[in-house]
Amino acid sequence: MSGVPGDAPAELAGKIVTPGDSRYQRVRSTYTTVGRPAQVVLPESAQDVAAALRFARDRGLPVAVRSGGHGLAGTGTNDGGLVIDLRALNRTDVLDRRTRMVRVEAGARWAQVAQALAPHGLAVSSGDHGNVGVGGIATGGGVGWLVRKYGLTVDHIRAVEVVLADGTLVRADAANEPDLLWVMRGAGAGAGVAVAFEIEAMELRDVGHAQLVVAVDPAGETLRRWADVMARAPRELSTELRLASQHDGSTAAVITAVVTSGSVPVVRGALEPLLQVGDVLGQQARIVAYTDLVSPLHLHENTGQMPARTTNGLLTEMSAGAARALVRASAAPDPVLVQMRSLGGATHDPDPSATAFAHRHQNVLVIGAAFPPDARDTLRTGWVPLAPYLDGAYVNFESAPDGTTFDRFYPGPTGARVADLWKRYDPEGVLRPRPRV
Ligand SMILES: Cc1cc2nc3c(=O)[nH]c(=O)nc-3n(C[C@H](O)[C@H](O)[C@H](O)COP(=O)(O)OP(=O)(O)OC[C@H]3O[C@@H](n4cnc5c(N)ncnc54)[C@H](O)[C@@H]3O)c2cc1C
Repeated sequence: MSGVPGDAPAELAGKIVTPGDSRYQRVRSTYTTVGRPAQVVLPESAQDVAAALRFARDRGLPVAVRSGGHGLAGTGTNDGGLVIDLRALNRTDVLDRRTRMVRVEAGARWAQVAQALAPHGLAVSSGDHGNVGVGGIATGGGVGWLVRKYGLTVDHIRAVEVVLADGTLVRADAANEPDLLWVMRGAGAGAGVAVAFEIEAMELRDVGHAQLVVAVDPAGETLRRWADVMARAPRELSTELRLASQHDGSTAAVITAVVTSGSVPVVRGALEPLLQVGDVLGQQARIVAYTDLVSPLHLHENTGQMPARTTNGLLTEMSAGAARALVRASAAPDPVLVQMRSLGGATHDPDPSATAFAHRHQNVLVIGAAFPPDARDTLRTGWVPLAPYLDGAYVNFESAPDGTTFDRFYPGPTGARVADLWKRYDPEGVLRPRPRV
């Protein structure tokens, strides 16, 4: 059954999935959220995206935009509205090997991008999970395994092909529509539907990959030593630290480290200071292909399987108070799953006004997640003691944005400019992400 509504535009024939369609179960939901949309459009071109937007407007249907479906707020689906699911727009092409310019379509998953670029010896600084979509990361920020060496995904975007809410297709670059380029690099969700990005990729094949398990003291001195090591680390080293409370009441940190080099001495030199972070309970290190990290093994369908609640904040300094609050939140009877990402390095290079991602002096991204049934209360209780130490937040790790979060994502003059541009490019707020939780 095609499920094409009778009044749908001809170019969308066969590309609209409705609840009676056998494909519906596969396309209704995102990673965190089960959706009940009235229609899911699967565009195969920018023109199809424009037709879908016009169709939704004519019928007064709320619109949700989806690339990889990993958005934590579940804004990639809705109930009773129209979802534009970009999965069929998933090409990656090398435009010019000499200048390392690549064109990546928004519906690709980062594992697909890594696979397509590997034969050319190229990679793009992205998120670290291969199933996450290009569209969500490249319009929000992009903090991944290469972040201290190469910065955020948005830092390397040179042009974006965007369908505006009224169906106009625009190619925004530094010379043509620079305001649109600016807002798409960090606050794109409210400005238009990105269908493709031109990105300056990096030369990269192999990386050093290590995992260490370190004992964590209740006062959090271990976290302060980690932050201290990272403040002095070469840019080649990026790390993620997860707190894990143990059955005996103690806490451990699982540190994943990536070094952007395939040279054993360089990798060893970058990793060695991490051994000073605390009592090492276990460790391993190896050289791997970048495609092993952002792996096709991560690819899966999204069925609302992870109904977690997530929030985040940025730290400029890992103070004693912040470190203690983090350890307490992760060791509480209802623990918050705490994950930290090292920033600094190349993330500090751009001027804060250069893109809509303005956070250019903070050193740590802290992410907290909690699970049903008490996710909301667990997260709130764990996060309250940390809040005074936080300095802004990253739009892409927030599952329940509200009236206060916009100012944390887009502080000061950045927020004023984002709000102005959202109004200019989407005056009726058709694309403004609507949180479901
Ligand atoms: C398991 C997991 C791992 C993650 N790892 C990382 C990580 O390493 N680094 C990191 O930075 N983030 C990470 N994230 C967060 C991630 O950046 C966001 O969840 C992001 O929104 C996912 O992109 P998506 O395209 O898959 O999301 P979707 O659910 O498809 O989209 C989410 C929202 O983004 C906007 N959007 C998506 N595509 C477009 C588009 N083409 N044009 C305009 N707006 C669009 C829309 O508002 C949409 O509703 C992770 C999330 C998960 C669940």
